[in-house]
Formats: sequence, C-alpha cells, structure tokens
Amino acid sequence: MSRRKKEKTNRKVIFLLLVSFALPGCGSARHDQKYSETKMLMGTIVKIDVCLDQARLSEIKDAYVGVWKRLEDISSRMSFFNEHGDVARINQSGLNPVSVGEDTYDVLKESKGFSRLTDGAFDVTVGPLVELWKESERNNSLPSQEEISETLSAVGPDNVQLLAEQHVRLLNLKTRIDLGGIAAGYAVDEAARLFRRQGITRFFIDVGGDIYVGGKNCSGEPWCIGIRDPRDVSKIIDIVQVTDKSVTTSGDYEKFYVIGGHQWSHIINPVTGYPQEDVTSATVIADRAVATDALATALCVLGGEEGTKRIDALSGQYASLIIVKQESGDIRKWESEEYKKYKYKK
Ligand code: AMP
Ligand code: MG
Repeated sequence: MSRRKKEKTNRKVIFLLLVSFALPGCGSARHDQKYSETKMLMGTIVKIDVCLDQARLSEIKDAYVGVWKRLEDISSRMSFFNEHGDVARINQSGLNPVSVGEDTYDVLKESKGFSRLTDGAFDVTVGPLVELWKESERNNSLPSQEEISETLSAVGPDNVQLLAEQHVRLLNLKTRIDLGGIAAGYAVDEAARLFRRQGITRFFIDVGGDIYVGGKNCSGEPWCIGIRDPRDVSKIIDIVQVTDKSVTTSGDYEKFYVIGGHQWSHIINPVTGYPQEDVTSATVIADRAVATDALATALCVLGGEEGTKRIDALSGQYASLIIVKQESGDIRKWESEEYKKYKYKK
C-alpha cells in the first residue's frame, strides 16, 4: 500500500475510534444550543463547539475564522511531511542551523522539558524510529535488532540544539524530529487562547483526541468527557467531569502498524526502539493541552505502575487513567490520586 494511501487509512481508523469525546451532559436533560464546526486538519478530525449566544453569533463565526487559520498555520509548520514547514526544513538541514517560527521553537522547548520529566519516554527525536517502523509495515517484515540499534543512535533529545533567535540545529545527520505526539496539544491551547481573547469562554475543542473544554458546558454544568472501553469501543469505560481543563487520550487502537498480522502501537519506546506493547490507552487531565498531549504519549511508554507513580509525584498538577492489557486478556485500570476527583459518579 502506498504511504499516502496508508496515511488515509489511518485517518479513517481515527475517525471511527476517537478515544475520548464530549457527552451532551452527565444525566442532564437540558441540551442548550451550541454552534459547531468540524474540519480535517493535522491528519485528524478537528471539532470545535461554542455555546451559542444568539446575540453574538456573527462574532463567534468570526472567531472561528481566526482559529481555523491559526490551526492550519500550526499544522503546516509542524507537519513531518510539508516540505516548506519548520519541521521538514529542520529535518532536511543537515547540521545547519534553521530559523523557525516562535511556535515551533516553543514546542521544541516544551518537548525537551517533557523528555526530562518522563526520563526520555517522551522524545520528539523518535522520527527515525517512526520511519523504520513505517518502512517495516510497507515491507511486512519486522526490523532486525541491528537496524533498531543503528536507528537508536540518532534518537535522543540532546541531538537537537535550540540556539538563540529561534534557530534550531540537529547534531546528528540521521536525527529527525516528529512532533506528532505534541503538536495537536499545542494547537488546542492556541485555539482556546484565541477564543478567550475574543471574550468567548464556553467551548469544546477536540483535535483527534486532544480535548480542551472552556468554562461550563452549554447546559451550565461541567463538561463530561467519555473515555472508550478498549475491549468494546462502542462502550464508555469512564466519564470525567471537567471545566477549563485539557483531557488527552493516547491509545494503541487509534493508530497502528500491522506487520505479519500483528498490530503494533504507533507509540515507540525511545529507549528500546520497539513500539510499546502493554498500554491500551492513557488519559491525562491538566490545565494545558500541550502537557496532556505529551504526557499521554509518554504514559503509554511508561506503563501503568510507573506512569501512575510519576503522575502522583507531580503534586496534583496532573491526573491520569492508564488502561493496561493483562496476560489473561483482561484489562487493569490504573488511576492516579488526582484522577478520582474528576471521575463522574452517578
Ligand atoms: P499521540 O497520538 O499524541 O500519542 O502521538 C503519537 C505520535 O507521536 C506517533 O504517531 C509518532 O508520530 C510520535 N511518537 C511516537 N512515539 C513517541 C514518543 N515516545 N515520544 C514522542 N512522540 C512519539
Ligand atoms: Mg501525545
């Protein structure tokens, strides 16, 4: 299958199986009006709802125009594939410094911070490993240990240098940056910032599983976000109730590589070079989507016990739910202390 066709297939999978989503209300019979727009962007579905204030409808529509423009800009700058974007220009630069936009520079800086916070489980220099596993899927043949070890030598946050005046330099010719694990979160935060700047405070933004909810929902209650049951994705395993928070879910049933009939996660452990195997999904709740996006990806690598321990150690800033496959075929849910506060109880 061609690369383009494969990407399209992956998008279709995401469309069918978005891992978390807004529910109209947790038991409320009221369904107040909302204005909604949806687009395909950043290789996924972007859905934005704003609670409708008829008197301000044209202002709301104008705000959407600005938000879509900003999201398209972030998408083209941070895409691995757009050859004129910042990421592709860095990846093609050899060892020369490249001038990038303030946003790309900020995301790279944040990425280094999340690498430190997760002991390297989150690492945007997984690019060469992502390419290796994609190639393996095209050939329907697992990479050899030799190929993995060789590829690993180009992976690690120290291979990217952030210089003055928004310049970025790679320190290894084979290093490639892939912002697929964090760019959507950054885009969500930007959309929320732009709405608030226009005085719009009650909204729901979803960029393929990276969600931010502003204020109360359109019925005047906290927003309810459903998290799918990995055993049966037509069901919900948990509901969380949140206000002015981001909720991101990363999962292995959302996007994957199929090699020899086996489904491999698209999230790769930057230490071993292999896709993570045990975690079915990881959900993170926090104030900023750039953080929940990076951490949800990292928790898939860290696993249930280690991931939950780390989130608990971050003194209440973050909440997490990690769902792990057991050898028996059943699942185990790991909830951080803070998560219990958000969980909807009927
Ligand atoms: P997400 O859906 O946010 O969990 O991001 C997954 C995407 O991030 C993958 O499709 C890769 O492009 C990239 N990625 C894979 N593994 C990692 C990792 N360990 N750290 C950072 N990004 C990763
Ligand atoms: Mg992520």
